[in-house]
Amino acid sequence: MGVIQAEKPKAGETGPSSLYAAHRKVYPKDVKGSVRRTKWAVLILLLGLYYVVPWIRWDRGPGAPDQAVIVDMAHARLYFGPFEIWPQEVYFLTGALILGAVGLFAVTSLYGRIWCGFTCPQTVWTDLFLWIERKIEGDRNARMRLDQAPMSATKAGRKAAKHAAWLLIAMATGGAWIMYFADAPAVTRQILTGQASLEVYFFFGLFTATTYLLAGFAREQVCTYMCPWPRFQGAMLDENSMVVTYRGWRGEPRGKAKAEGCGDCVDCAACVHVCPTGIDIRDGQQLECIGCGLCVDACDDVMAKLGREKGLIAFETLKNLAASEAAAARFQPGPARLSAGMAARRPQRILRPRTYVYAVALAAVVTVMLGAWLMRDTLTLSVLRDRAPIYVTLSDGGIRNGYTLKVANKLREEGRFALTLAGPAGLQLTVQDAEADAQGRPVLATRPDGITQWRVLVTAPPALRLPESVPVTFRLLDDRGRTAASHGSVFLGPRP
Ligand code: SF4
Ligand code: SF4
Repeated sequence: MGVIQAEKPKAGETGPSSLYAAHRKVYPKDVKGSVRRTKWAVLILLLGLYYVVPWIRWDRGPGAPDQAVIVDMAHARLYFGPFEIWPQEVYFLTGALILGAVGLFAVTSLYGRIWCGFTCPQTVWTDLFLWIERKIEGDRNARMRLDQAPMSATKAGRKAAKHAAWLLIAMATGGAWIMYFADAPAVTRQILTGQASLEVYFFFGLFTATTYLLAGFAREQVCTYMCPWPRFQGAMLDENSMVVTYRGWRGEPRGKAKAEGCGDCVDCAACVHVCPTGIDIRDGQQLECIGCGLCVDACDDVMAKLGREKGLIAFETLKNLAASEAAAARFQPGPARLSAGMAARRPQRILRPRTYVYAVALAAVVTVMLGAWLMRDTLTLSVLRDRAPIYVTLSDGGIRNGYTLKVANKLREEGRFALTLAGPAGLQLTVQDAEADAQGRPVLATRPDGITQWRVLVTAPPALRLPESVPVTFRLLDDRGRTAASHGSVFLGPRP
């Protein structure tokens, strides 16, 4: 039946023959219904975004990539439409990750494993690969027959066609991933003409192989054994979270459609046959259930054919399930039990302590990120003082310190700033290869959208007596004399 189960002891054996469950291939059956349609819509949207986004152009002017979303490894930048993240602003990525994690916690506490069942890449690509498999090898029964049949030209042809189609999708997926790190049209041309670098071919091959193996072969085993999320997502769920449930109070005792005294479950196993992880939702909440809801569609279809009310398997809170169970217990299977059970249900409680906590955490992260973005400096100055030697004694007895100034100009136009030094009067400032303005101050010309580096010398004449260490501040002044950026350092000399 395509279900993963622990091996049962054989006759005469006293215990399990192995501590490990043997893997049994799952053959999910096709199903139609509102959940399936929603899953198709989500799949098309997500895959469309993934494959198309690298091809969207974004004019940033000369010297910058014209791709809307790209990680520019060579210049250490992340471009996301109008946003440009520099390496020293990596905290924005950290913030985005925290935002994603807390958002996922919040959604899970409200709607259970909606991420796993609808949007997780493993689910999306497995769904796509399964669709290909069905188109080429047929639905569940045909696939099972084909696998059990001896090798023939037809079987070999179908298998070859399926794997070829899977490989093409896997290659498109691997190729699209590379395009998030290199110009899409250029890298596509290079890959197709054999002119790409070894690194490009390595990662292209790696992501192609990963997609092919995980979506084509590992499938539900990734969710059951490899993914850590099912292990701790239970901490976000409570009795008010929406999960896929079997309304046992309505379905039990199971029996044939026309049998007397039976509930609504006719034990047709349609819900098991469509399940991508091969489990039986009637056994209760299980770690293997990814919350995809396909069993809801399968059972609704059976109920519709039998002329019974849909919803024997449904998205439901455990609180409502318990309330229905208690209310229905007083009645025998039939319309009265159904009405009593359904009437006991209450609207889902959205606002509860854990959702408040998630909402506050989300609001806090969004506020901090927004504030950081609005106060983001477009010009930053960093100063590195020479450490060896920490100072130089000149032949006339003066003391000199050397510094390296780095000016990061995040704007698209060149900047010109006068450099001044705030500190003890008498210190002399010299910048190598810099022009001077009318007041004799060195002028630093910064290149657009880049970092410019300068060698700066600060000298204390012999007559200037200073302590061993004095604070100094380098300032960049714009053409109106306002401080555009500043950075503190120290001037060191011998002990007086
Ligand atoms: S599909 Fe519905 S009726 Fe059929 S076995 Fe599953 S729960 Fe019972
Ligand atoms: S039990 Fe239902 S919801 Fe859970 S994985 Fe199987 S089909 Fe999806």
